[in-house]
Amino acid sequence: MATNFAQLSLAPALLAVVDELGYRHPTPIQVESIPLILAGRDLIGQSKTGSGKTAAFALPILQALDVHSRSLQALIICPTRELAAQVAREMRKLGRKHKGLSILELVGGQPVRQQTDALDRGVHIAVGTPGRLLDHLERGTMDCTQLATVVLDEADRMLDMGFGANVERILRAVPKQRQTILFSATFPSTIEAMSRAHQSDALRVTIDDAKHEDSPVEQFFLEVEPSEKLQALYWTLEHYPHESALIFCNFKASVAELAQALSRSGLSVDRLDGDLEQYQRDQVLAKFRNQSTRILIATDVAGRGIDVEDLELVINYELPAKPNTYVHRIGRTGRAGKAGVAVSLATKRERTKLAAIEQVMGTAPERLEHEVGETDVRSLARDAKMATILISGGRKDKVRPGDILGALTGEAGGLEGCDIGKIEIQNRLSYVAVARRHAASAVDSINAGRIKGKRFRASLVS
Ligand code: AMP
Repeated sequence: MATNFAQLSLAPALLAVVDELGYRHPTPIQVESIPLILAGRDLIGQSKTGSGKTAAFALPILQALDVHSRSLQALIICPTRELAAQVAREMRKLGRKHKGLSILELVGGQPVRQQTDALDRGVHIAVGTPGRLLDHLERGTMDCTQLATVVLDEADRMLDMGFGANVERILRAVPKQRQTILFSATFPSTIEAMSRAHQSDALRVTIDDAKHEDSPVEQFFLEVEPSEKLQALYWTLEHYPHESALIFCNFKASVAELAQALSRSGLSVDRLDGDLEQYQRDQVLAKFRNQSTRILIATDVAGRGIDVEDLELVINYELPAKPNTYVHRIGRTGRAGKAGVAVSLATKRERTKLAAIEQVMGTAPERLEHEVGETDVRSLARDAKMATILISGGRKDKVRPGDILGALTGEAGGLEGCDIGKIEIQNRLSYVAVARRHAASAVDSINAGRIKGKRFRASLVS
């Protein structure tokens, strides 16, 4: 089996990019999928976020792409806007040596007009969510005559979210002569049916099987009385040291209640539920990704699309009703080969849920024996090490990470490079993580100075 990228028949330019990005070895899903996709085969891959699946389809797509022809050649369908943004980001990174490459995000919540204009100018790759993609197909604003490859990313989540009918309509509307790649974490019969209906001779690649022995996520559970849950949560947070932890509840109301209880104890928490406006949701996620918030509490629906590198701890404050939901939840930790921990708080009455999880996972979460005593909550009430600054300029304003770094460091900003964390550039705005103690002065220096000769507004995201 190939253990380095050079053995995967990738073009020298792509090998150089992979090397620059510091990807030393292909991940198992990449080793298995890249040759098959390069050979033009349809593929049904079992793989979750963090396995390197984006590069597994992006590299062969980029290799086959004709940049000189300004036509849509690949379409990536994703369940959420966040995932679409993340896939587009990874594809732009991998395609940085393709001069003139144009990748467009087609997601809801953004003006259709701008997307239509961009489509008119011509794009090579579109990454989008089902509703908006279908919208463009039906308006006739997206020309698919040259479309060679369609990817269904996280197909099971798309079905879970009720996008099945839209995805079917998209697949019926694009050329029959095409390559179809389907990635999914789980394989319910609905996914099998979709594969049979829309793929031809699909080869199956299973790597990240949930039943795989050496799953990088260590799973534990604590059996607790309902009244002990909060104490058990504090105990868990204390015993599993983490920079970031994600806590799942089943209901919006429990998210709100728990968030209130934890903030009252002085913990740095944010919450994510369906009631947030899109911009608030973006801010909460940006803060969690760049370590300005240590603890995020979410419902499953709101938690879809959360993508955080280096997430060390996932806690199920409430066990989900469906075992597949559990698989999705704990799939957020232990990314890209790093070990993660998942701890579930289960009441006696939830033993049947644990049994169902064991059936799906092939292994049972290990029971933690401990006395739920009082935890000194003060020891948990550390501030996050970073704070997030919102800057009113983004990619469309030609702002790049280096420009922001330049404005904040050296004579202009006075900060050290090590005081600056993740810089996330979006279309019209940017999020920058700055060491908390320097946050106020960083805001001032952006507001007082210029970036690329232009003035932008900066503010602290609270
Ligand atoms: P994904 O599963 O596509 O969400 O990828 C998870 C993360 O792993 C992304 O941040 C990628 O940039 C990174 N990644 C992908 N392939 C490799 C590789 N072969 N070696 C190291 N990191 C990788």
